[in-house]
Amino acid sequence: MQLSNYHSHCTFCDGRSTAEDFVKFAISHGFRAYGFSSHSPLPFETFWNMSKDDMPEYLMEIERLKKKYGDQLEIYVGLEIDFLDETYNASIPYFRNLPLDYRIGSIHFLPVALPLAEENMVCIDGSFRDYRNSVDTYYEGDIRKLVARYFDSTLKMIETGGIDIVGHMDKIYMNGQKYEAFDLEADWYQKPLDDCLHLIAEKGLMVEVNTKNLQKKQELYPHHDYLHRLCELGIPVMVNSDCHYPDLVNDGRAEAFELLKKAGFKSTRELIGGKWEDVAI
Ligand SMILES: [Zn+2]
Ligand SMILES: [Zn+2]
Repeated sequence: MQLSNYHSHCTFCDGRSTAEDFVKFAISHGFRAYGFSSHSPLPFETFWNMSKDDMPEYLMEIERLKKKYGDQLEIYVGLEIDFLDETYNASIPYFRNLPLDYRIGSIHFLPVALPLAEENMVCIDGSFRDYRNSVDTYYEGDIRKLVARYFDSTLKMIETGGIDIVGHMDKIYMNGQKYEAFDLEADWYQKPLDDCLHLIAEKGLMVEVNTKNLQKKQELYPHHDYLHRLCELGIPVMVNSDCHYPDLVNDGRAEAFELLKKAGFKSTRELIGGKWEDVAI
């Protein structure tokens, strides 16, 4: 099992501890590699995204940690970049020009109107109450319509590029599964999910196996039922905890590796000396 994590949040966004605290935890638990992926700046302020003004300090702080702890841990600086639409995503010059080690592309928001402002966003990663309100207001109460929109946005994110890793690629099911009409096996769910997986494979992107809710809710993203399909398509994966607290750095890792093995994976893709390499599980 690889002791690495490339998806984590610290006080530069909505993480609850300093970057150095995460590094110390990783070192004390024998980690080989550790990456930060703060929530990228957005065209509007939220409580969980970092602000553009803090970017230089973020980059400097991780650089400082690389120097201070480099002999004990490989430290990397990344970002979790929101795909909002064709005008705001990881492919725009602002993100392309940042000196990052890698970029995770994630969808938390679906714009329902312009301008790109918080009040025009459907958030798929918040409370079920807000989620249900959005489905009622913008999708005629039909969860299938939100699912279609989510995977359409995911497909565009993969097509648009500027990312290395697709983050929590099917998180739409976290709240979606609470609907009676929701069905992971139905065509309307399977077909767009499959289209995304095929495009990921074609583009040669990686997919993270996100364990944030594995212990807490027995949920993995992608859903554990689909891991074998990623394996069949030859999509490289790594296990990420998406932690916001240092003591959750390693949460769900062992279980996720067991699921990967069962699904047929023989390796995960890891950053070694700054290069992605396949390492045997
Ligand atoms: Zn996320
Ligand atoms: Zn995250």
